[in-house]
Amino acid sequence: MGEVSKHPFEYEIKRNGTKFIINNVIIRNLRKFIERIKTEHINERTMASFINEIKGKVDVVIDIRYNTFFKRNQGFKPEIFQIILATHNIEYFYFQDLGNPYHKKNQDKPIKAKQDYLKYLEKRLFARSNKPDLQPHHILTHLFNKIAHSKDYQSKNFCLICYCATTNPSECHRFWLKEKLINMKRTELNMPGDYIMEV
Ligand SMILES: [Zn+2]
Repeated sequence: MGEVSKHPFEYEIKRNGTKFIINNVIIRNLRKFIERIKTEHINERTMASFINEIKGKVDVVIDIRYNTFFKRNQGFKPEIFQIILATHNIEYFYFQDLGNPYHKKNQDKPIKAKQDYLKYLEKRLFARSNKPDLQPHHILTHLFNKIAHSKDYQSKNFCLICYCATTNPSECHRFWLKEKLINMKRTELNMPGDYIMEV
């Protein structure tokens, strides 16, 4: 916990004619936010190996699977998952609204898949005939405020989870959501919200 310099390191960046002043306080703030959001997958993992993976690193699991049918008999059904994680002092929330409803449709089109998902996140209401109405933007704002502004959660580490056993940010919506949250934080810090996660 050092002192904040009276003459912080400062620089200027431009995007489409708009000037942004970045300093070391903003960068530190952003880095801390980014470090508190991890992502994990559950495919190819048992409950024990999944918990082993996150234990000591994660306080809150955010489940963003659109469908929770697969692996439901291995403890990954939301109601059961929550109870198991609680025994390890890990909180659990299931946000189906942040799942990817286009997952099947866009399976072989990674660029379109990401575009569609980011567009979906802006929707206030997403009605599906076979599902209750989803509120992507409302839940996204709720999650952002929980991570960025909630007093109870300000020192907690979050983990977004999905099935996909990939580390490639172009292949799973848990990376796209993380990127979106980072860009929301950047916008709030008066930085350009155009960060893209790379491999
Ligand atoms: Zn996924």
